[in-house]
This record gives sequence, C-alpha cells and structure tokens, in this order.
Amino acid sequence: MTRTLRRLSAVDDIELGVRLLRGTPTNEGRDDDQLRRISAAAQRFGAELAADHSDPVDGATVVERAGGDLSLVARYLPRRGRIELFSAAVEHCETVVDRLGWSDWFPPGTVRAAAVLHERAHERITHRHAAELRTAVGVPALRLGHWTRWAFIAGADELAAHAYAGAVLGLPRSPLLITAAAMAAIEED
Ligand SMILES: [Zn+2]
Repeated sequence: MTRTLRRLSAVDDIELGVRLLRGTPTNEGRDDDQLRRISAAAQRFGAELAADHSDPVDGATVVERAGGDLSLVARYLPRRGRIELFSAAVEHCETVVDRLGWSDWFPPGTVRAAAVLHERAHERITHRHAAELRTAVGVPALRLGHWTRWAFIAGADELAAHAYAGAVLGLPRSPLLITAAAMAAIEED
C-alpha cells in the first residue's frame, strides 16, 4: 500500500464527496464551492435519514454472490426487490482496511454491514425520499416566482447512502473512505 492510499485518511468526508461528485457525469460544470455545499448537504441528509433506520420487513432481499468485480461491492435492483453483495469486492475492501491499519474506524464486519445499509438507503431514497433529497441538496433547476423545482444531482444519492450506513453503524468516518481507498488500490495494481 503506497503513501497515496494512506494519505486518503487525511482527506475529510466532505472533500471525498466532492471528489466523487466531480467524477460523476453532469457535474463537470459545477465549481468547488457548489460541490462542497452539495457534498455536505447530501451527507447530512443521509445521516438524518438514518435516525429512524430499521430493517424493513417488506424490504429487498439480501443475496450474497461469490466472486464478482473488485470495484462493485453491492447493488440494489429495485425491480427484482433484491440487494446483491459481491464477495470478491467485500474481501478486497476488508483487506485494504486491514492493511492500512484502519480497523479502529472500521472494525471487522463493517464492510458487509455498511454495504447492506448503503443499499437499504438507496432503497428508501428511491421509493420515498427522492424529492426530499433534491430539496435538501438545494440546487435549483427552475424557478417560477416563488416556486422552485430542485435539480437532481448525480452522485448525491451515493453520498447520502454512504452517510446513512456510517450513521447507523456509528462510524467515525464515512464508508466513502473505504470505497476511495479500495478504488485507489485497484488503480495501483
Ligand atoms: Zn450506492
């Protein structure tokens, strides 16, 4: 593991969010100040939504699959009512956390638990809170008098989902940090 990976721990969660947003298509024209505001608002929204988290009885079923691509830990398939976890990527993230000495922040079992909670957050946001997220992020798409339509910001749901998982698990850092390090480790190899 190189210094580049180790140095990621010094980058705060808001800035990690800015980096994710900047790398997401349709955000190219946004400046750093706006991206910081979006990053902070989306993560605050996710953490607040987590306050009433409970495992839904009628929620998507969690299915774990062996193997898979290292870069995809989990995904939510709304039409199939399923959350898929991919073992290879989960193990890759666990290895990265272990080798970087981040186990105090992310104790054993965190990657899997955070991945499921992350997808639960997507499930909740997709079905019930999409408009609230757009309002919370607060980028106007259209204004007509006192009426505002809030823009969909690509990547905001992703940041909210990471913050949601971190808040439910009571982690000191967002699981976004694990994702950033895991992706950087793939790029290094
Ligand atoms: Zn996601």
